[in-house]
Amino acid sequence: MKLVILSRDGIINKSFAGGVIQPDQWLPLPGSLEAIARLQREGYRVVVVTDQPGISLGALRMETLNRIHVRMLEAVRNKGGQIDAVFVCPHAAHDKCRCRAPSPGLYEQLSERLKISLPSVYAACATEDETAAARAAGARPVLVGGAGTVAPGLQPAFAGLGDFVDAMVTGGIRR
Ligand SMILES: [Zn+2]
Repeated sequence: MKLVILSRDGIINKSFAGGVIQPDQWLPLPGSLEAIARLQREGYRVVVVTDQPGISLGALRMETLNRIHVRMLEAVRNKGGQIDAVFVCPHAAHDKCRCRAPSPGLYEQLSERLKISLPSVYAACATEDETAAARAAGARPVLVGGAGTVAPGLQPAFAGLGDFVDAMVTGGIRR
């Protein structure tokens, strides 16, 4: 099985300081939906991992998060792509869970659920914590992000999901 793991905020959609807490705040980044459709055509299964501390903090209800994800899945489908699963950490830092980045729990969950080992699987990450989580789970993290989606001082390997997917399917990633 060919699989790729995508972080959500800053990779597929715009990220906001307080998180995406309403469906109409879920706004795809340029080219991200087309990139997911391309992965689909290339035979990759796509899964999303996302930390949503707003749930634990009371800023985001699970029901609203589900509606946000329905909006995302529909937007992807409208471009001919598919997301197989969305793995969510609903905790905040004070919960000291095992699934919030930089802990590897979400990646381990998806590895178990999909019965796939991660050493050959790329993960498009938007933050250093996410790359640390993916690396700790044995996946191959790649920092992806454009203006405003990556913290100042970080050097993303690719400007956006489109460039990352292009390099991945053409064998342009070697690390
Ligand atoms: Zn968690």
